[in-house]
Amino acid sequence: MRLNILGTGHGTATECYNTCFTISNGVEHFLVDAGGGNGILKQLKSSKIEIENIKNIFVSHIHMDHLLGVLWIIRIFARKFYKKELIEPVKIYGNDEVISALNKICEIVIPKDFLFLLNDKIKFIEVKTNDRVKILDFDVEFIDLSAKKVKQFGFVIKKDDVNLFTFIGDEVCSANTEKYLNNTKWLFADAYMAGEEAERHNPIERHHHSTVKYVAEMSERLNVENLVLSHTIDNDLKNRKEKFTNDAKKYFKGNIFVPDDLEIIEIEEEL
Ligand SMILES: [Zn+2]
Repeated sequence: MRLNILGTGHGTATECYNTCFTISNGVEHFLVDAGGGNGILKQLKSSKIEIENIKNIFVSHIHMDHLLGVLWIIRIFARKFYKKELIEPVKIYGNDEVISALNKICEIVIPKDFLFLLNDKIKFIEVKTNDRVKILDFDVEFIDLSAKKVKQFGFVIKKDDVNLFTFIGDEVCSANTEKYLNNTKWLFADAYMAGEEAERHNPIERHHHSTVKYVAEMSERLNVENLVLSHTIDNDLKNRKEKFTNDAKKYFKGNIFVPDDLEIIEIEEEL
């Protein structure tokens, strides 16, 4: 299993793509968020991911930097289904706000000839907290992150009730969510800023975005094994990996990953 990191930036990043990734088993891909636009197509192409091999998509919340890229994927899927190049439906999961937004936007922007494919071949599936589905042969449990800005969901991949992989979106982790981080093998988290810059700017108060220190301390306390930090500012990408990793190391003893766009992170076979 591997993570294909498609983007690593925050909402208005210009030096890298917005944070999104796939969990992949070599054949099939589970896409998590899609960034803010058409750039998703380039990121997928550069990662050698064929769109038709994406079978499941999850959109965490309605903010543009997570949702709008999905429209391009829907458009490409729609054409392929229309031409009968594809048979098996693609599933797009999200909370009620996400599904309502996708329905509304698609009705306006997707070519009319393709509209009948929505919810037939392109399935919008509204999920509630603690709903479980099978993706890539794993139990994926969607979780309401109790976010402050708009309703935001994450998910945890579980095996025999052990937390294997936890995704907590782009806000500060709430107390309710902590149980999904307990002993998790992999945590994918937002870390907007590192070190002194984070101290000075205080993104936790100002934007409800996390800092490296906050996430690393929490991960140490909750016994996380591997920590992936993303959704960062893009003002110093050249030094980001080193700066963010060194800051996280001060508070967290597990493995730390601060990926660049298009990086691949190999994760254990059993996940
Ligand atoms: Zn975001």
